Amino acid sequence: MNCRIGFGIDFHQLVEDREFWLGGILIPHTKGALGHSDADVLLHAICDAMLGAACLGDIGVHFPDTDASLKNIDSKILLKKSFELIQKEGYSIVNIDSTLCLQSPKIKDHVPAMQSVIAGILSLPANAVSIKATTTEKMGFVGREEGLVAYASILLEKMSTIS
Ligand SMILES: [Zn+2]
Repeated sequence: MNCRIGFGIDFHQLVEDREFWLGGILIPHTKGALGHSDADVLLHAICDAMLGAACLGDIGVHFPDTDASLKNIDSKILLKKSFELIQKEGYSIVNIDSTLCLQSPKIKDHVPAMQSVIAGILSLPANAVSIKATTTEKMGFVGREEGLVAYASILLEKMSTIS
């Protein structure tokens, strides 16, 4: 078995008058993440981890924010496309571990829905998609609720071809 590890990180600003998309779901909040797409920081970190594990560059290479067709795009589409790119290289996903770093809102109650959406897109059992969350104890830009961060690591395996 040929395994590859990947890591991704993503940041977005939090601003008023934006929908708050996180982990593929819409979360009720006073602010939303700002970006060219729907700015789903968790899905972007997972895309980057996946692409990185396969040494396929990063999300900005495949889905540049200068591409008008990607304006406000649902990041679940980017996740699906990233998954197709690694599948084309012969990889499948073993598991994902991720951490969200945000001051508010509490996302614990939303985690099962996020896991279900992500696992569905990636053809994984929900227990292969770990989503954790932390605050920065009110320190820094995360603590001031100016932005949020997502970190993701992933393990891919490549099935060896029988010759
Ligand atoms: Zn992003």
